[in-house]
Amino acid sequence: MAMDRLFQRGPRLDRVPASAWAAAGLAAVLTLIAFATDAPAALLVALAAGVIVWAGREARRYIIEPVRDDTIELVGLAELAPLLEALPDPALLVDAEGRIVSSNAAARRQMQFEARGQFLTSILRHPDVLEAVQTAVHDGVTRAVEYEQTTQIERHTRCYVAPVTWGADRAAMLVFHDQTARISTERMRADFLANASHELRTPLASLTLLIETIAGPARDNAADRDRFLKMMQTQADRMRRLIDDLLSLSRIELDEHVPPSDRADIAGVAREVVDLLAGVARERGVELKIEAPDTPVRVVGERFQLAQVVQNLIDNAVKYTPNGGLVRIEIGEAGDREEAAMLAGRRWEEAGRVALLTPASVANRSYAYIRVEDAGPGVAKRFLPRLGERFFRVERELGDEKGGTGLGLAIVKHILNRHRGGFLVESQPGRGSAFAAYVELAGDA
Ligand code: ADP
Repeated sequence: MAMDRLFQRGPRLDRVPASAWAAAGLAAVLTLIAFATDAPAALLVALAAGVIVWAGREARRYIIEPVRDDTIELVGLAELAPLLEALPDPALLVDAEGRIVSSNAAARRQMQFEARGQFLTSILRHPDVLEAVQTAVHDGVTRAVEYEQTTQIERHTRCYVAPVTWGADRAAMLVFHDQTARISTERMRADFLANASHELRTPLASLTLLIETIAGPARDNAADRDRFLKMMQTQADRMRRLIDDLLSLSRIELDEHVPPSDRADIAGVAREVVDLLAGVARERGVELKIEAPDTPVRVVGERFQLAQVVQNLIDNAVKYTPNGGLVRIEIGEAGDREEAAMLAGRRWEEAGRVALLTPASVANRSYAYIRVEDAGPGVAKRFLPRLGERFFRVERELGDEKGGTGLGLAIVKHILNRHRGGFLVESQPGRGSAFAAYVELAGDA
């Protein structure tokens, strides 16, 4: 059926209610009587004038004002049902008494109601929505209402309420559009900006203070000046690291939705990173030991990003392992996602463990894993789920700031997410921590 047959819009004379026609008729009769009889003409004319004014106002509501009327007129209610069903968002048709006369599957599923004829107020009590329904039905005006529900989880909805008529019946059509994802993204962006500025402001404040000290009280003392300059160098390095990590993170996020199509040998990548960090490890008295197959372990992934993952994990392991300790790096293969998680992240019986990222389950997909074990202090169970959160640092929670950026693990998590891989941690205070990642093995290996 053509849409123009289904919907008709605009002012129409047949919308003038019977009461207005009757009042206009009465006014005419009264006027005639006034002029045709001896009755007190002035009184009758005044009465007729009053009735004319009232009839005019009634008619105006339906003739002149409907020029702004948004009402959609249906030929019949039956035509609406398939249109409602086709909408992906929940939609309801509510009559002038507030009863649900039609609904689509999305509404029935999300709003959990069964019966047609149920009152709207039994599933939704938000006063702004109910008022918009009244306005739609009585004044023919469309409104969009935003509201928030906080039952178990916070949910933001925008509800469009539009007037609809078919024959003499008026109703309101309600379409609900979920805004939760948009609002939480906006909030996350605002939080991120606030956190990033705060993190940058801390070293900047130290730098300002140090500059003032060097320019003032320490001006003539060479030893103090040197000490303060070293401190300035530390703060400037921290700012540079923060900016580098923030830029890395934003670059990774930019194409996080595009999985890599390259191939890389993760064992080779790990060996290169171990060589690169050997000097730092030696300086700290930490031994690096790598156990990997002699043959290449080819995975679907971008070499540079995988190197970043391995480097961040080994960097942390070296940083937290005390002098004389061992950092063990192991690379292996697993037949599926569950086996990868098991081999990479379930070794220590008494450890706390958390999956920080789990890929969707895909049939016939095998994985390569890398596990980096250290002999550091470990992480208390309660903090494990927060690892990988931007700017999260256990030391800060414990009031013992070490100067890290809290972005290294977030970078790892985002890279692995792009690779549709997994990320887990196993940790036991006193024994150490093991961070593990797994990514898809290249089928052509
Ligand atoms: P950064 O090390 O720069 O602070 P990361 O994102 O790499 O940032 O790590 C976040 C936090 O996780 C660290 O501040 C630390 O508290 C904790 N952490 C990471 N790796 C280890 C580890 N191997 N052992 C103990 N704690 C760790």
